[in-house]
Amino acid sequence: GKLELRERPYSLRAFLSDICRLISFRAQARNLEFRMDVDPRLPDNIHGDESRLRQVIINVLNNAVKYTNHGYVKFTVTGTPVSGYMPGQRVNLTFSVEDTGVGIRQKDLARLFEKFERVGPAGTEQVEGTGLGLTISKNLLDMMGGTIEVESEFGSGSLFTVTIPQKIVSTGQIG
Ligand code: ADP
Repeated sequence: GKLELRERPYSLRAFLSDICRLISFRAQARNLEFRMDVDPRLPDNIHGDESRLRQVIINVLNNAVKYTNHGYVKFTVTGTPVSGYMPGQRVNLTFSVEDTGVGIRQKDLARLFEKFERVGPAGTEQVEGTGLGLTISKNLLDMMGGTIEVESEFGSGSLFTVTIPQKIVSTGQIG
């Protein structure tokens, strides 16, 4: 339980393009379509714990790829400025990950973020995993002032939404 945040400036564009490269490769290996939609007006230079945020987003995207056998994984990134896109202000980033995978039963949704829970339907026991990823992701987000939520329909897919505030360093847009 002893984690310290390491916050520094980073490029949101570089952050997202790294993630895109990694996940599109994994999605391709499983014959899934990977779609990505990023608001081009988002600020590029932001400040926060990039490596912790990367762990969280990759965990959610990896799960979407692991627990989807047909269809697509869609990654959407948007943001709401707290008071304008100005240096020193904050932007609330939203990362959503939608998949057309196996889905999660309603009764299991609440337990997802608890320790060691693996809730998959029959047939997903073989999918490599520990049930720890989402618990750690939730703890990291709590520390960083973020949130994680899930909606799912068993048998048709899931939608995970992560939000996190980051500080704006300069005005350049991501493009
Ligand atoms: P794991 O290492 O088991 O994947 P996680 O904590 O990341 O651990 O996820 C916990 C459980 O939640 C998984 O074992 C799986 O049953 C379920 N799960 C997570 N993401 C998805 C998803 N996108 N679609 C279906 N089930 C999921």
